[in-house]
Amino acid sequence: MKKKAVWVDEVYQGIVRTSFKLKKRLFRGKSPFQEVEVVETAGHGRLLLIDGMTMVSERDEFVYHEMIAHPALFLHPKPLRVLVIGGGDGGTVREVLRHKSVERCVLVEIDGLVVEASRKYIPQTAAALSDKRVTVRTEDGVKFVAETNEKFDVVIVDSTEPFGPAKELFGRSFYKNVKRLLTEDGIVVSQAGSPFYEIATIRNLFKIMRPIFPVVEVSLFTNLTYPGGLWAFTVATKGLHPVRDFVPARVKTSKLKLSWYNAEIHAGSFACPNFLKKEIGV
Ligand code: SAM
Repeated sequence: MKKKAVWVDEVYQGIVRTSFKLKKRLFRGKSPFQEVEVVETAGHGRLLLIDGMTMVSERDEFVYHEMIAHPALFLHPKPLRVLVIGGGDGGTVREVLRHKSVERCVLVEIDGLVVEASRKYIPQTAAALSDKRVTVRTEDGVKFVAETNEKFDVVIVDSTEPFGPAKELFGRSFYKNVKRLLTEDGIVVSQAGSPFYEIATIRNLFKIMRPIFPVVEVSLFTNLTYPGGLWAFTVATKGLHPVRDFVPARVKTSKLKLSWYNAEIHAGSFACPNFLKKEIGV
């Protein structure tokens, strides 16, 4: 008799469900912050879930991690020191380290269980965490930015959605502290959610960041495994404009073998659809 297929479901905002055909459950653990799972799927490789929400799939993580890292790292004239907050799966750090100018990358991930599970089950993203340029700190990113005196050229907030431990990563004092840590041409990129389902998150980030940073833009990209497919990052800087000050030739001369990001995608990702322009008042 044919075995009945088993599915892993992500129920999102109680109104949409994404199912992934399950091959094998590899890990499930509970930390003081959240439930962490890794499963083997039939069509998307290994999947990291946090509290039942899809975080990373081996099949499409390259898009998210190239788009969270490269627009800022090619915009900045010479990124040497990068801070990644969240990002315990290691994918963002992996893309940051591909830039030869980067001498130091600090990852501040509140939940050690995410790093441990990713190192064990998703080396595709987590292997980068063993690079000698990387320092992994298991602590709250909100506390880290409030207390450190270290300076960074780029800060990347690769966090979960604005609830639980991530809530204050979407707050005013956090971004005031981030600005204090940024060097002269500093850039901060933040995971901002779905322009369809989480417009309030994007609107709120703009409201908070506009009085703090002279330049605040939204960058859009597609994400196979996230609800609705279209996803957003906000990009705020101390002066550089992500399109006007971007030098496309730098991508070519870098000779980086990228699978999604290129100079045209860079410029195009900052083109904002009218409904979003209206919502964020651009
Ligand atoms: N790509 C995913 C997304 O778009 O939702 C995010 C990936 S990464 C796994 C998100 C990480 O943010 C989680 O591992 C979570 O533990 C971490 N995180 C949440 N709040 C945090 C905080 N206050 N400080 C540091 N890390 C935090």
